[in-house]
Amino acid sequence: MKNKNHIHESVDPRVFKKKGSRLDFLCPLCGVSRSITKNFKLTRANHIQISVLSFTLFLISYSWLGGAGLIYFPVVFCGFEFWKRVDYKRDIPCESCGFDAMWYKKDVPKAKQLVHEFWSQKKSNLSVKSEDN
Ligand SMILES: [Zn+2]
Repeated sequence: MKNKNHIHESVDPRVFKKKGSRLDFLCPLCGVSRSITKNFKLTRANHIQISVLSFTLFLISYSWLGGAGLIYFPVVFCGFEFWKRVDYKRDIPCESCGFDAMWYKKDVPKAKQLVHEFWSQKKSNLSVKSEDN
């Protein structure tokens, strides 16, 4: 191993700079510099999308639902909110070691299991690549 501080030779220590990063930090498990670009909060553009989509669905269904079509506003809002949070959580796991801080905060054994799954998947990918060569 070239660097003593490096946790494993399979971990890629290169820094991947992402455009428009919101949060820069070091991975607590492997020490690789990371950044998060996504936000879990709804933006002004999302609110406009929610309004337009809900109003369109309301107009389409007005003939048979009438005023009950207003139910589309909270349903579409919840759908957007759910999607933004799912999208944000997909950005959190480390690309180098598979450490997920959200799972670590909730359930440490589950976070450990996810890291083991990441490494077993990475090892199988590496063995497939070496068989190809
Ligand atoms: Zn990491």
